[in-house]
Amino acid sequence: TNATTKYKRIVLKLSGEVLSGKSNNPIDAGVLERICAQVKEIRDMGVEVCVVIGGGNIFRGLQGEKRGVDRTTGDYMGMLATVINSLALMDCLEKMGVPTRVQSAIPMNQVAEPFILRRAMRHLEKGRVVIFAAGTGNPYFSTDTTAALRASEMHADIIMKATKVDGIYDKDPKKHTDAVKYDEITYIDALRQRLNVMDSTAFSLCLDNNVPILVFDLNDPHAIEKAVTGQKVGTLVHG
Ligand code: UDP
Repeated sequence: TNATTKYKRIVLKLSGEVLSGKSNNPIDAGVLERICAQVKEIRDMGVEVCVVIGGGNIFRGLQGEKRGVDRTTGDYMGMLATVINSLALMDCLEKMGVPTRVQSAIPMNQVAEPFILRRAMRHLEKGRVVIFAAGTGNPYFSTDTTAALRASEMHADIIMKATKVDGIYDKDPKKHTDAVKYDEITYIDALRQRLNVMDSTAFSLCLDNNVPILVFDLNDPHAIEKAVTGQKVGTLVHG
């Protein structure tokens, strides 16, 4: 590992929506390439990268429920959506020369490896980017929870959560011009101030297992690199 990197092993959490960018397609090729270029940049620096991608650009269980789909069925549809996104990431990364492995929480052997912790560790040692697909494999959870769970299991140094805003503010920066951004905040203060960093299941897993969360803006083309080299970017939530 490069001595200049602050984090040795990270879990990058991408929401499904980032993949569609401004286009009407669920997956925008340009956006996909820009994201993968950022992943390549840090993996080439020697950082061990795990990726968890959501499925919100295609399907969310809660959306389905509003349209009359049973919640658990909708959640499985959402989990399958994350597999589609994971394969898109895999394909794009490999075309850039980055070896990857997709591990699915729901066995589908022709499509992806099953999730096996020790094997995932081995992939990282070999310089492969590991993409965790199909969420936790259970309905009623989210991909934020998946990121928190995998980060805990993999002993990752941090979860980097890519969003559309450049960090956590004391109030909604879109509604309040005087909103103030935090450079860092403790879990407890984030809870006290009801800042919705992640859903409560995901957040409490991070808190209990002391996994720091960095919230940053994916539109900044060097945000991930900056974060990994210890430059000030986004908001760090920690113990
Ligand atoms: N999902 C699930 N269990 C999991 C992870 C995801 O049931 O462990 C389903 C859930 O329906 C969720 C959908 O998959 O809405 C897509 O994931 P998420 O909403 O987290 O995606 P994002 O908002 O990050 O795009």
